[in-house]
Amino acid sequence: MKNLYIKKEECCGCGACVDVCRRGAVKMAVDREGFWYPRIEEALCVDCGQCKRVCPVKKRDGEGTSRQYFGVQVKKENTRYLSSSGGMFPVLAEYVLKKQGVVWGAAFGKNMRVAHREIRSIEELDAVKRTKYVQSSLKGVYRRIDAELKEGKWVLFAGTPCQAEGLRLYLNRFFPKLILMDLVCYGVPSPGIWGDYVKHLERKRRGRVTDFSFRDKRNKDNGHTCVYKAGGREYAGSLYSDIYCRMYFSNHTLRPSCHACRFCSVERKSDFTIGDFWGIEKVKPDMEDGMGTSVVILHTRKAREIWEEVKDSLSWFRCEEKDVLQPRLTCPTAAAESRRIFMIFYRLLPFSMFQALYFMCASAKELMKRVFGTFKR
Ligand SMILES: Cc1cc2nc3c(=O)[nH]c(=O)nc-3n(C[C@H](O)[C@H](O)[C@H](O)COP(=O)(O)OP(=O)(O)OC[C@H]3O[C@@H](n4cnc5c(N)ncnc54)[C@H](O)[C@@H]3O)c2cc1C
Ligand code: SF4
Ligand code: SF4
Ligand code: SF4
Repeated sequence: MKNLYIKKEECCGCGACVDVCRRGAVKMAVDREGFWYPRIEEALCVDCGQCKRVCPVKKRDGEGTSRQYFGVQVKKENTRYLSSSGGMFPVLAEYVLKKQGVVWGAAFGKNMRVAHREIRSIEELDAVKRTKYVQSSLKGVYRRIDAELKEGKWVLFAGTPCQAEGLRLYLNRFFPKLILMDLVCYGVPSPGIWGDYVKHLERKRRGRVTDFSFRDKRNKDNGHTCVYKAGGREYAGSLYSDIYCRMYFSNHTLRPSCHACRFCSVERKSDFTIGDFWGIEKVKPDMEDGMGTSVVILHTRKAREIWEEVKDSLSWFRCEEKDVLQPRLTCPTAAAESRRIFMIFYRLLPFSMFQALYFMCASAKELMKRVFGTFKR
């Protein structure tokens, strides 16, 4: 086998092909935008086709059957406060941990790199809670989960839909004790740009960045506050004033596959899908308190059985598909028109200069929009 993809849109970087290749022929390499892509060392490849079998972008089999939709808030206020939306993930995590199981989620590691890690106790749960707007590495995770399931353990895997699908295809059989929970997904930004941003903050603040919360709720604004710690001090601001988040939400830093994503729908093969309940103020105004509500979709019988066991720890209401259809459940995020030129400058300039240039251009564009808007009115 020579290549696993032709266009960059055809690889979401889930890494399932790396873990499945028993010959060690697939390795990840970082491209010029800071994303990982698999490369095959042809001399080691025996053409077994396993890497193609597990690829979530290529594979497409039958769609799920009946689905149920809920709006959810965990009753324990502190748990909800420390989660990104309504706190459904920690409820499922506690369900599995009580069974002496293992929970896999995204956590910050050395130099604030984001990778999936396993936790086995409630005390460790905080590390894998909360949204990290960075692509998370799954190196070695597929193999570990396979081994844990074969030992008979309960496993909860939480991640992006392409990661969950990569895991399902990797395992290639039904495990009754595996819970797959995927997210409504806007897309993942470049880990390379994140790494450069962290270094930039460390220079600016003269100290190590030790924590970063993209969705802090201290302002009761549904987690639209961004808080980080650098050099022992805490810095807080609006999510949209943080330059890294602005680059993300202006659609400049997403992985190319995210702009062609086939998971931007309610059709998933996982057990649970969770996300932010957009439009809660219209569907259930009495529940909107600025502290986050999760949308929860149950896809499988296993999910419906678990739901019956955990629902008493939640404030919830059942709703219709039409109530939850936010943009990322209908179509992928469109790339910014200037994404190409943005990436050219990213490659050419030192990061501090690059981010200052981006800030100037973005501010000028916003000003133009406002002026133009005034004329139109
Ligand atoms: C990159 C990204 C984009 C998202 N886009 C949307 C969106 O457009 N619309 C929407 O409704 N919701 C989106 N979400 C989901 C949303 O932000 C919340 O994560 C979700 O509602 C769960 O919240 P919670 O309160 O139940 O759990 P929390 O306690 O907040 O747990 C968050 C869960 O997400 C996992 N996670 C965090 N970061 C990553 C990552 N980088 N890669 C894989 N898994 C991760 C954690 O391990 C944990 O399981 C996105 C999440 C991510 C990570
Ligand atoms: S075809 Fe088989 S041996 Fe070759 S890279 Fe893929 S998994 Fe490895
Ligand atoms: S398995 Fe994942 S990393 Fe490998 S080619 Fe497919 S999408 Fe890319
Ligand atoms: S948008 Fe699609 S391709 Fe991108 S990370 Fe999310 S699920 Fe994967």
